[in-house]
Amino acid sequence: MGKIAITINGCQLSGRDGMTILDLARENNIAIPTLCHHPLLTPTGACRVCLVEDENSGRLIASCVTPIAPGMVVKTDSPRVIDARKTFIELLLAGHPDSCLVCDKGNRCELRRLASELEISRVRFKKLRHFYPLDDTNPFIERDLTKCILCGRCVRACQELQGVAAIDYAYRGFDLKPATFQDKGLAESACESCGLCVSMCPVAALSDKSTRNQGKETSKVRTVCPYCGCGCSIYLSLRDQEIIGVSPCPENSVNNGLLCVKGRFGIIEFIHHRDRLKAPLIKKDGEFVEATWDEALELVASRLKSYRAEELAVISSAKCTNEENYVAQKFARAVLGTNNVDHCARLCHAPSVAGLAQSFGSGAMTNSIDEIRDARCIFAIGTNTTEAHPIIGLEVKKAVGNGAKLIVANPREIDLVRFSHLWLKHKPGSDVALVMGMAKAIVDEGLFDQTFIDQRCENFDAFLDSLKGFDLDFVERTTGVTKEKIVEAARIYASDKPSTILYAMGITQHSHGTDNVIAIANLAMLTGNIGKPSSGVNPLRGQNNVQGACDMGALPNVYPGYQAVADGGIRGKFEAAWGGSLPPSPGLTITEMIDAAYNKKIKAIYLIGENPVLSEPDIAHATEALERLEFLVVQDIFLSETAWLADVVLPGASFAEKDGTFTNTERRVQRIRKAIEPVGDSRPDWWITCELGKRMGGKGFDFAHPSEIMEEISRLTPSYGGITYERLDNGGLQWPCPSQDHPGTPILHTERFTRGKGKFIPLEYKPPMELPDEEYPLILTTGRSLYQFHTGTMTRKVEGLNVLRREGEVEINPDDASSLGIIDGEKVKVISRRGEVVARAKVTEVSPVGVVFMTFHFAESPANLLTNPAVDPVAKIPEFKVCAVRIERM
Ligand code: SF4
Repeated sequence: MGKIAITINGCQLSGRDGMTILDLARENNIAIPTLCHHPLLTPTGACRVCLVEDENSGRLIASCVTPIAPGMVVKTDSPRVIDARKTFIELLLAGHPDSCLVCDKGNRCELRRLASELEISRVRFKKLRHFYPLDDTNPFIERDLTKCILCGRCVRACQELQGVAAIDYAYRGFDLKPATFQDKGLAESACESCGLCVSMCPVAALSDKSTRNQGKETSKVRTVCPYCGCGCSIYLSLRDQEIIGVSPCPENSVNNGLLCVKGRFGIIEFIHHRDRLKAPLIKKDGEFVEATWDEALELVASRLKSYRAEELAVISSAKCTNEENYVAQKFARAVLGTNNVDHCARLCHAPSVAGLAQSFGSGAMTNSIDEIRDARCIFAIGTNTTEAHPIIGLEVKKAVGNGAKLIVANPREIDLVRFSHLWLKHKPGSDVALVMGMAKAIVDEGLFDQTFIDQRCENFDAFLDSLKGFDLDFVERTTGVTKEKIVEAARIYASDKPSTILYAMGITQHSHGTDNVIAIANLAMLTGNIGKPSSGVNPLRGQNNVQGACDMGALPNVYPGYQAVADGGIRGKFEAAWGGSLPPSPGLTITEMIDAAYNKKIKAIYLIGENPVLSEPDIAHATEALERLEFLVVQDIFLSETAWLADVVLPGASFAEKDGTFTNTERRVQRIRKAIEPVGDSRPDWWITCELGKRMGGKGFDFAHPSEIMEEISRLTPSYGGITYERLDNGGLQWPCPSQDHPGTPILHTERFTRGKGKFIPLEYKPPMELPDEEYPLILTTGRSLYQFHTGTMTRKVEGLNVLRREGEVEINPDDASSLGIIDGEKVKVISRRGEVVARAKVTEVSPVGVVFMTFHFAESPANLLTNPAVDPVAKIPEFKVCAVRIERM
């Protein structure tokens, strides 16, 4: 890159091609004020506040849009520059209300700060004000355009960073303003309430209702968002023991200063909610009675001691920290003597762990989030990324903006389809046929990577043989996607390299979920799209720490780091470390625990931070199973639907009240930090489990702080061997990170696969377990909404999120609605072989004919009352994504 020498304020400076005067000045600590400029946005030079004087031409030029050129001589603070800046600021002030004393922006107002810095004591121009009605329609964001200075940051942020374009300029001349389509309220626009525009606004034209009039923070704590697996880095702003604001952390490769609606607006209210559990509860005569910790822990310890190991189970939590999951599985194995320990990964990505372990040797995202933007092709199958992983959705949009071709495979017309080059609208449950059909087309056209296959893979001939079962006519009939589209997708995926595959629960939540994952792994190996930047196989994990809970061995068959419990050598290592004998055979999965509880073989469960009464399939069966237990302990931050069934409820601390680590979907281990004391008498989950361990005679539970637990984790877990709190203080580390001097691993399988050679695995197509028939003619598929999370335990405590998505809906295609006589908004019954729920119909072409869609967030219309508990034979994940239903008018 060429060096360019210019002079600024008499100093000789050297810049690079493509830099603006403002870039170079800021790099050299020369202050130039700005208003419309923001480092994340395309510069426009709209406000002219960044004017500098070009001494060669004598012109005043906007430094934010003027590239440096050899020999330039620039003055940033000449009398002409200062005078012009003052004039522009005065013109803005002439159109701005004089409400600074009562304006919530206060000292954070950039216009006011600039006026003060430029020593403007009066405005020479006639006041010419705009009078716009306040837009109060959005639950989180208030728009007061009387204060707008037309910097355009909000418009650019919404378009360039969010890819939503909910606002743009409307009208002309004096009437010009940022407006929604048809100049309606934000609530009636495409706005996703991410709040980015609020954080971009230099004045108070856009403000966050929840933090208004909260005063100034006294401190800030950096931590990680507790919702989805993206693992966005956030700051919690504090005033003493109160969290008064949430903002994104810009120094971070995951979210780069961005957040979704849940991360920005969905945290404070649930942490400080009046319904938080504040003391242990013991059920007496059917009623919960508050108890001391001593009473509750003694009761739990003595009851758990009274059962045989095979009658006990522990359900750990993808919401809890790595340290908490570690002690939970250690407690199950070393104290209760059982491998009956599992968590909700069973219900989301167990096939990724099982399938990718067979193909590659390890089951996690092979690449990093910030590589997606540089892919040339993105194959997004079974992922509604913009709703379930919003920040990764932004990466996908960025890649498309950079020229990548996006192939979306999804039965529903999800938001990503708008950005796609090709939409493969395949039938629910036909993924193996679709992906193997693409593989067949790649082989038929000779587009596979023979060198990669020869050098890095095995079992290719058997795989080739299995492709004979995927004749494209068969694939077309099975998937409903034309042969031409399948071939086009195959050509793009194989040729526009690097190609990356993103997938989520649309792939895994099937009775053949493991086959789906293996099909994807086959496709990546076939084209050599693995082990390289911006390529790979990337399962997007749903919850904040579901990756970490798996890594920590909260699974019935493996210790931390996926070390098999059935391996005598490994078991010996853990026996020596934990000081006692450990059970040799794998335990029960969650779904098997529920069945065993139903059959009264499991008699007591210690359940941490999970809500199976809403999240299990066929929840009538799951609820009855839990009711049949002799003893149920639930540890949570709220009295969830499951906690109501408990004999003892132990109040856990929220993520903001404890230290620890979460591991996000790209294997990045990040610190969460205690910002406030636990509310009431709640305690961190690691402390509670350790207390139980000690009271039951367990050894090695005397931890004073989670950092000591991490020391034990890194001693026993090779992939976490180099991870310490000290190292994490400087940012996250991606596992494998085997030693103190290892920098972490952004890309897996670069030189060799974890298992040595990548294994091609032959497959055959199997249909879903339950297909439509005369009695149940529609397919129900389930998923997530951007505005709620999982079973709603946290998000439904946030009123603004409830305003944006208050109830469960059943989405139905207009053709199906019309043949059933259903109109948009009316309440209908959705009925399957397991039960029936009532929900409001949403008539929309997003759902294809014959397919209806529900989220599983709402206890009032619990979709999982309907879903099929049939499981994948390998991963034991239930078939949430396909079940047969009928719909009746009320
Ligand atoms: Fe939180 Fe996920 Fe939203 Fe990031 S994308 S702010 S991690 S919910």
